[in-house]
Amino acid sequence: MDHTDLYINGAWREGAAGQRFDVINPADETVLASVASAEIADADLALDAAEAAMADWAARTPRARAEVLRKAWELMTARLPDFARLITLENGKAGTDAMGEATYAAEFFRWFAEEAVRADGMITHAPASGARIIVQHKPAGLAVLVTPWNYPAAMGTRKIAPALAAGCGVIIKPAGETPLTMLALMPLLAEAGVPPGLVNVLPTTQSGPLVDHMLHDPRVRVVSFTGSTGVGRKLLRGAADQVLKPAMELGGNAPLIVFEDADIDVAVEGAMLAKMRNLGEACTAANRFYVHEDVAEVFTERFTAAMAALKMGNGIENDVDVGPLVNADTRDKVAYFVSDAVEKGAELRLGGAVPNGPGFFYPPTVLARVPENADCLRDEIFGPVAAIQTFTEQDDVIARANDTEYGLVAYVFTENMKRGLQVCERLEYGMVGLNRGLVSDPAAPFGGVKQSGLGREGGHEGMLEFMETQYISASW
Ligand code: NAD
Repeated sequence: MDHTDLYINGAWREGAAGQRFDVINPADETVLASVASAEIADADLALDAAEAAMADWAARTPRARAEVLRKAWELMTARLPDFARLITLENGKAGTDAMGEATYAAEFFRWFAEEAVRADGMITHAPASGARIIVQHKPAGLAVLVTPWNYPAAMGTRKIAPALAAGCGVIIKPAGETPLTMLALMPLLAEAGVPPGLVNVLPTTQSGPLVDHMLHDPRVRVVSFTGSTGVGRKLLRGAADQVLKPAMELGGNAPLIVFEDADIDVAVEGAMLAKMRNLGEACTAANRFYVHEDVAEVFTERFTAAMAALKMGNGIENDVDVGPLVNADTRDKVAYFVSDAVEKGAELRLGGAVPNGPGFFYPPTVLARVPENADCLRDEIFGPVAAIQTFTEQDDVIARANDTEYGLVAYVFTENMKRGLQVCERLEYGMVGLNRGLVSDPAAPFGGVKQSGLGREGGHEGMLEFMETQYISASW
């Protein structure tokens, strides 16, 4: 691996204490790289560098910032296979998933190059006083970005690109399982024209104290986190002391509803995407399938056949659809959810057994007639396991779909668009896929309600997360 040190002020450095940690290839459990671990002193250096770089960057014209981002998109697009390979090596996901992620990750640079010049404000007359109301958006300040392992490139670029478009400097702390992709992106950003210090990367084994330290530095104004709801709550508490602007992309427990009037082939195709993209290790993964009794058997048969056709193996090989899960804990948790559901009475239609190692593999698995008390209906499965239940009444399935503290994404399949849109409106979710198993799009506002998060990434909203609104009351 070329880049395994901290990236601070445009240069590679050891951590202050000289500590390193191993990154493991989940397909064969070998050590891929030994990566420098950042300490508090390194965070201070990164904050100093980001502060200095931001002063000039924020003063550049929006077009000048946009052109750097556009160049980053071009450079990354030219190197997608290299990024995909690295994503597969450290995360495990199959080559097609990794190419999908790399492409999606690069698109945030293009999208926010286009958005950088569209921080629209407004001017109007105050209704009573007649003064002018001028509203404008300004860069919020330094941003601390914390990202998960399931999308080592895209969860980073989805934050870096809008922050840079807005004019902010950033310190990014990637997940310890998958820091290599974000480190590999840094020379590309430098080549695109990102000045030294504007983007700093701090892998660490000390996530809690390191991030908390940065959240208490007065120069930091934004914390943007993607990860579990539990860690999100901790960061919100840490952010409270300085009243930081939080953007929180947290966990999900997505329902996928197939009505009796759905096109079953469309529903199966959508369900495969919603469940198996990223082998289920996605906050958007369909976690609870609700299929109308009248079509439950035909849907389950066709869906199970599609799952059975997937080839599991080392994701670096060309014909593999399903790679390993990221680590042993994730694999063991998935195995627990399946055995718990089966013990409580679920029918195992496919998969369900942990294969011999090495590698953290778990096969595509289908559970039918899952009982209401199964743990997999309450928590994110985060693996290639579909938990299918049935329903007969529309009001009942909407109530069951909403019966969770999460509210990230839901999926609905019906050929009746009037019904579909009515159901979408009643679902307490930030996003709904209607006859589609994929909602993620750089041009759309991604995010959840309830305990799935605060704020939106992508779309027009994404850049505003890194900006403060200023209102000037003026007379002339
Ligand atoms: P995680 O919450 O364990 O870790 C996420 C990041 O937070 C990692 O970088 C980790 O090192 C860091 N971290 C852990 N403890 C910390 C602490 N005390 N202080 C500061 N940072 C800390 O999540 P994960 O296991 O890496 O990722 C899976 C989770 O992410 C799932 O819940 C999934 O739903 C969620 N996720 C959400 C979205 C979304 O957009 N809503 C996208 C992808 C993943």
